[in-house]
Amino acid sequence: MWAMLSRPLFLGSEIYRGSSYGPSHPLRVPRVSTVIDLARALGWLGPDQYMTSPRAKPAALTAWHTPDYIAALQRAEATQEARPEDIARHHIGTVSNPVYPEIYRRPATAAGASILAGELLADGGIIHSPAGGTHHGMPDRASGFCYLNDAVLAILSLRAHGARRIAYIDIDAHHGDGVEFAFGADPECILISVHQEKRWPGTGTLADDGGGHSHNLPVPRGLNDTEFAYILNELILPKVTRFAPDAIVLQCGADAVEEDPLSHLELSNNAHWSAVAALMGLAPRLLVLGGGGYNPWSVGRLWTGVWAVLNGHPIPERLPPEPEAVLRALEFKGNRRGRNPPEHWFTTLRDAPRPGPIRDEIRHGVGVLIRRDT
Ligand SMILES: [Zn+2]
Repeated sequence: MWAMLSRPLFLGSEIYRGSSYGPSHPLRVPRVSTVIDLARALGWLGPDQYMTSPRAKPAALTAWHTPDYIAALQRAEATQEARPEDIARHHIGTVSNPVYPEIYRRPATAAGASILAGELLADGGIIHSPAGGTHHGMPDRASGFCYLNDAVLAILSLRAHGARRIAYIDIDAHHGDGVEFAFGADPECILISVHQEKRWPGTGTLADDGGGHSHNLPVPRGLNDTEFAYILNELILPKVTRFAPDAIVLQCGADAVEEDPLSHLELSNNAHWSAVAALMGLAPRLLVLGGGGYNPWSVGRLWTGVWAVLNGHPIPERLPPEPEAVLRALEFKGNRRGRNPPEHWFTTLRDAPRPGPIRDEIRHGVGVLIRRDT
């Protein structure tokens, strides 16, 4: 039905612009709208490469989520309140997963992008959906700012459109527990998650294999670019190459960079871009999702750079005036990092590299996972 995509496709929507989980929630900051504005200002996102994401229909969401939960999200959006059972059973109306104006439409739009991506990639290609990557969502409940699990829905859609073997790589600062719950025991999936140790949600220990096919590498605070390159080259790339997937889904959360206010890892955005560049070409289908990321400048710069890498655009040393103006217009209220942002958050996309020693704990973890025979 579809020909292979001739160029990478960006799935976005204007629903994310101005949408907020509330004034004190980490997801009060703009993210996808910044990427769209920056990429357009750089001349990288013409109408031929941008597609507006459809909103998934409730029936499509029940491919993984329960009908009761979808109905609860729709009801919460309509009434703007959570009933006691919504809180108790579905975990909506909590501090992490508040009721907000687009509580159904926004996640259903990110899910719509992921489902459409599975269809558009039927014959191969590359898609970037920075609104996706909501890897904590569970079938009957919200979790960790994620109401739906678009990554799971993407994998199901890829499967429904001809891809059998799926590699899911998750470089968010948090463990991709929802995706592991769905596919950790699936012999035709390989899941690799690199995340900060001893952090919420507490799953994803080195010993946790998710039922056989999940590889979890918890990493200590301060993860640096050299350590990330070691993990990429010694663990991720050999595992993915050996698995020979039909499709790769990369959850490219932007919360493992030093500037992130929620995590304590110290990558530069070069780490994420190197992962994107290395995974391109290891499978005929590549879907790059977003994920966490709570500093509006680092998220916008990182994901715009992902789009540049996917398209082979050189990243300018200094941004031209129009994209610089996009970054200067951002605000980060209620966070100390928003008070005096350093100049390079406005004038560059690329961070300075953050090299460092490779700690024994990381060598040990990579060694354990490499020896695991899947
Ligand atoms: Zn995260």
